[in-house]
Amino acid sequence: MGPEPREMSPEPVVTSRADRVAVTARWVLTGHRSGTPELVPHGTVVVRDGRIEDVTTAEVADARRIRLPGNSLLLPGFVDVHSHSLNGPLFRGMTEDRSRAGTQSTLVYDVLMPVGDLAATTMTDDEARAVYTASLLRILAGGTTTTVDVFRPRHRAFLDAARDVGIRAYGAPYLATRTVAGVDAHGTPVTRESDGPAQLEHAVQLFREYDEGPGGRIRVMLGPHCTDTCSPAYLAKVLATARDLGTNMTIHVAQSRPELAYLRRHHDCTPVEFLARHGICGPDVVAAHCAFATPDDLAVLASTGTPVACCPATFVHSGRHVSYRTFVDAGVTTGIGTDGHSLTYLEELRVAGTVAKLAAGGPSGVTSADLLRTGTEGSAAVLGRSDLGRIERGARADLVGLTLNDPGLEPVLDPLSTAVWHSAGTGVDLVVVDGAVLVEQGRHTRIDAAAVRRSANAVVERIWETFARASPPPT
Ligand SMILES: [Zn+2]
Repeated sequence: MGPEPREMSPEPVVTSRADRVAVTARWVLTGHRSGTPELVPHGTVVVRDGRIEDVTTAEVADARRIRLPGNSLLLPGFVDVHSHSLNGPLFRGMTEDRSRAGTQSTLVYDVLMPVGDLAATTMTDDEARAVYTASLLRILAGGTTTTVDVFRPRHRAFLDAARDVGIRAYGAPYLATRTVAGVDAHGTPVTRESDGPAQLEHAVQLFREYDEGPGGRIRVMLGPHCTDTCSPAYLAKVLATARDLGTNMTIHVAQSRPELAYLRRHHDCTPVEFLARHGICGPDVVAAHCAFATPDDLAVLASTGTPVACCPATFVHSGRHVSYRTFVDAGVTTGIGTDGHSLTYLEELRVAGTVAKLAAGGPSGVTSADLLRTGTEGSAAVLGRSDLGRIERGARADLVGLTLNDPGLEPVLDPLSTAVWHSAGTGVDLVVVDGAVLVEQGRHTRIDAAAVRRSANAVVERIWETFARASPPPT
């Protein structure tokens, strides 16, 4: 039997209520145009066709109304400029207490990479998609509306999960000409060759399959792993390819002492000098971490317009102060990333602020407003996106609504300071991405998050059980 005949109806000519969404909050943070935060009290943001149509204090008709309750704060969605969504569920609780003799060497090469390899080789596509989906749902519910994710295993599973979840995602599959097999007695990485050209070809294929273009929600970047795992010729080829495709690239830079040692031994320079020497810099090269950047390195990053993804929390556990203000003050385009360490962006901002104050030995201009600006407009600039990270007419409609209705937060005398320094990222009530309401009243609107989480947890527990059997602790 064929399908039932359907009555034809003319195309609607009148905007229906469902086409427009109007979100009202006690305070709306629209931006920082004059250098100070601009808060609209009792403001309403009108969203249509994925963009912000208006910001008003007047009544809005012909729209679906969402009124955030009580002490509510509507912010531009956060932009996480460097994450590994798999690392949150995969490594949480398993790395923080490790002794690392003041370096990241044993963490990156003894735990992160082998367990990551195990995950890559033992997860099925469906299992990987479940873990990615669970993680992205949590990231979204933590207020991140754009995430840059650098990932190794199961590339399509990540991109499919991002599509399902509705988050704005820049996926950067790892590329490398060498993989690290461990570290030698001096802490220098021991590497073996890997098939970089085939990986690049695969990434280009992913770009053609998934990338939605400059205004799209899903983008594919190129993600060469690090300065110690990619040859200069390869990096030049990757950057030229990214530019041909019209996308960005991102690379870990100056993230560990073994990397510094490798660059000194083989190239007699710092990682940033290495990139600059080979022309691997510019506004479309997002340098992640730069935790060991020297003052000269900072000057190179600033003068070449190379943006930095600063991830303070991930370095806290190795006792290193990586202050985002160091980069900002040097004139570097600076955004804040979580490195997958925390999936709650406001928690990352609070740590970023605390670390910056400790590093400076004083408050030194580190305010909640500055942190919020860096995590929204600043991070958007790292991606070359002036249409993200602000609430103004024409910008993409990526919004986060917080409610600060908690005995530990009330009375709310200063909503920005309360949100950053005290809320710990709880109270995310609403998340809108590209005009779509993905979290409402704290609940996901599209996906059964509890079911996905159960599947994902089982996968991760199995990977660690396998790792423990293969690498029993010394007796
Ligand atoms: Zn990273």
